[in-house]
Amino acid sequence: MTALPPGSTIGILGGGQLGRMLAVAAAQLGYRCHIYAPEQDSVAAEVAAKFTCAPWHDQDALIEFSRDCAVITYEFENVPVAPLARLPQAMLAPGTRALEVAQDRVREKRFIEEVGGRPAPYLPVDHDSELAGAIARVGAPGILKTRRDGYDGKGQWSIKQDHEAQGIRIPQSGCVYEERVRFECEFSVVLVRGRGGEIRFWDSTRNTHEDGILAHTELPAPAIVGSQVEEARALAGKVASALGYVGVLTLEFFATANGPVFNEMAPRVHNSGHWTIEGAVTSQFENHIRAICGLPLGSTERMAERVVMDNLIGEVALDLVGHLSDDRAHVHLYGKSEARAGRKMGHITRVG
Ligand code: AMP
Repeated sequence: MTALPPGSTIGILGGGQLGRMLAVAAAQLGYRCHIYAPEQDSVAAEVAAKFTCAPWHDQDALIEFSRDCAVITYEFENVPVAPLARLPQAMLAPGTRALEVAQDRVREKRFIEEVGGRPAPYLPVDHDSELAGAIARVGAPGILKTRRDGYDGKGQWSIKQDHEAQGIRIPQSGCVYEERVRFECEFSVVLVRGRGGEIRFWDSTRNTHEDGILAHTELPAPAIVGSQVEEARALAGKVASALGYVGVLTLEFFATANGPVFNEMAPRVHNSGHWTIEGAVTSQFENHIRAICGLPLGSTERMAERVVMDNLIGEVALDLVGHLSDDRAHVHLYGKSEARAGRKMGHITRVG
């Protein structure tokens, strides 16, 4: 693909903060963004040139949207794939196969096993009657997760003992039951793959979650991450190549005494890569735009020994003056109108 000339329009499916930060990076390179999202209230649309507010299943609206765009990408992995089938597939970056794999936890784990990775022991649970057997075979403690539409720890039940299965109703789209992994820490591999197949990795952060939501990432990560990152990168690289992936891809891992255990993947820029805006030569957002537009990739090198990123979740986010009292803090607020508990409202990065 020849590089998209500046002034071209990039379509982004999804209207949240990831789309907002992608649109800012795109604007810096002289591109315009057109956001497509089903909710009127879009923090990405606020910083984009155009906005189509229509349901995911509105084929006519999607086709109209695609006519305005030179390339189309996603900031949200649960965009329904079926309606995208009528769009020119060459416009979609990454392709829909990455979405299909990442949208279903069972399919994702099987795919990871096929390319040589290791998820936690798991079993699909498609009916109420299968749950007790799955818990007995995989063992407790474990976690029951919906196969689809789970994020930030939503759609999950912690199972501490066998008998806890009673009373849980399995949703129609099914669940997966997996062993609770004993890990020393969590980390992610964030990579970018260009149109020609070149892959670059950012440094892996240590990720700390609170109530299933990412709260904090830090570099340098502990030594155990350093000793497992090569294996994790090899797997992530295989995933990207097998999918013919274009753009930023994230794989999350548990660092365990027996090596890296795959948790999940996101076919998009990721919260654990927000530190790259100020902490790396080229951010995940800019490199995603470069990749999908057929431009040369930027260096992923880290700019300082120490970089930390804290998410601003819920009401605390709104104290802008307070956050800026640290005159080295890079504060990002996403412009969301309502600060609900558990809602990601912004983040702060500190470099050096
Ligand atoms: P997920 O939405 O699957 O990424 O889960 C959110 C968070 O819950 C993870 O980042 C972990 O902190 C925790 N978690 C999820 N699955 C497991 C597991 N199998 N074992 C231990 N912790 C888990």
